[in-house]
Amino acid sequence: MNNIDNYNFSGKKALVRVDFNVPLNDNFEITDTTRIDAALPTISKIIDGGGSVILMSHLGRPKTGPEGKFSLKHLLPYLREKLGMEVQFADDCIGEQAKKKAGALKPGEVLLLENLRFYKEETKGGEEFASKLASLGDVYVNDAFGTAHRAHASTAIIAQFFPDDKLFGYIMENEIRSIDKVIHDSGKPFTAILGGAKVSGKIEIINKLLDKVDNMIIGGGMMFTFIKAMGGNIGNSLVEEDLVETAKKALDKAKELGVNFYIPSDAIAAAAFDNDAITKLVSADAIPDGFMGLDIGPESIKSFTEAIGRSATILWNGPMGVFEMSNFEAGTKAIAKAIAEATQKGAFSLIGGGDSVAAINKYHLKDKVSYVSTGGGAMLEYIEGKELPGVRAVMGG
Ligand code: AMP
Repeated sequence: MNNIDNYNFSGKKALVRVDFNVPLNDNFEITDTTRIDAALPTISKIIDGGGSVILMSHLGRPKTGPEGKFSLKHLLPYLREKLGMEVQFADDCIGEQAKKKAGALKPGEVLLLENLRFYKEETKGGEEFASKLASLGDVYVNDAFGTAHRAHASTAIIAQFFPDDKLFGYIMENEIRSIDKVIHDSGKPFTAILGGAKVSGKIEIINKLLDKVDNMIIGGGMMFTFIKAMGGNIGNSLVEEDLVETAKKALDKAKELGVNFYIPSDAIAAAAFDNDAITKLVSADAIPDGFMGLDIGPESIKSFTEAIGRSATILWNGPMGVFEMSNFEAGTKAIAKAIAEATQKGAFSLIGGGDSVAAINKYHLKDKVSYVSTGGGAMLEYIEGKELPGVRAVMGG
């Protein structure tokens, strides 16, 4: 199979699906450049190999065709600065102008196409749309892990038009390698830490991971559905009533399998969802009425930190509390630090999911963990054992 290191890009136009779905502020400035920065090694490799690059991506969720605020042209100043060269722009991802500009590209040149999602055919996986995109390049490179779990035109359908010239970029290669390592080749003890607001998006992965891990640590808003399942009082904390039974079953499964299930013993409860609200340190299963648990407490931090410190493999998805507010960030910060420390001692740590990545960045620990995944949803689905359309399209046939 072709790969980015052995493929001869000389004289070729590489059509690269990147994930440039970055957050923009009201002045259309990028507030987090992680996704663009992550794609630079793939772009540079193609240019250094004598090829030219046609970048395609989505940005936001435009509803009905082109919308100025979702234009990829907002990314041009940053891209030009980072690549240190001119980056051309086609204000439609298909059509005459894109064809002309792509056709005229010389080795070493870069062209950015307008937002793919200005066409509904992109998310619908339209074949004709995919073939129009495909006609712009000689080789297809998928480096958009964040959308690999979607069978969209540019992430999966397009690959059929490049039977002998399709490959993964470095982000995709590294993501797949890191996740494979965690699920197929994990050193023991293996600890999974799951947090965030909701159980609903994560119950499948909890069940799947119970077959593999030694320790399952639960924090964040979703802990209260488990605490309720165990008969605790959760006051006004977040809860998904319809999942209480499911949570109970997961707890039973953990017991059967001998997995240590860590549920917080204490919590910081607040009188309102507000950083300035009155707070109380309470037992996590005795949240007073009128209060809601917004972070894990010091006793939980201590026990979680110890378990993390003994681990050889660590997977983290989702914050321990409302870490965006300074009074409820202690749990998330302590867990992030504990993961970094365990990594320094030799553990392999994989962090994924928008909010845990934001937390790792906030505490400047990105370089102290083994791998930070760029795609939360895709990472979870891959760990659940689902075949990702974007991966299959390049690997298969
Ligand atoms: P998710 O998208 O499910 O990973 O949830 C991430 C969000 O969960 C973050 O924005 C956190 O602020 C929020 N969160 C974490 N802990 C709690 C909590 N105890 N109560 C309410 N929201 C929480």
